[in-house]
Amino acid sequence: MRTCTVEKNKQNCNCSFGCGKCGVCCECLSYHRRRGELPGCYFPADIESGGNRSVANFLSVLQQRGPGYLK
Ligand code: SF4
Repeated sequence: MRTCTVEKNKQNCNCSFGCGKCGVCCECLSYHRRRGELPGCYFPADIESGGNRSVANFLSVLQQRGPGYLK
């Protein structure tokens, strides 16, 4: 049985909003997917803190900066 590694996940979470889903990636993804968004970890820190998690914003950032920041 696979167990969720919440504390390990938190080390890779750049979200500055501190909601209860931090580190619980399945809930985070599901929440933002329902809203037509992506989780904060898809955005560089300066964009993430603005709170615009739309797919359109993600594509705009990706086009401007390339995928290097996702690594
Ligand atoms: S990206 Fe959204 S759901 Fe995930 S931890 Fe941040 S505020 Fe919470």
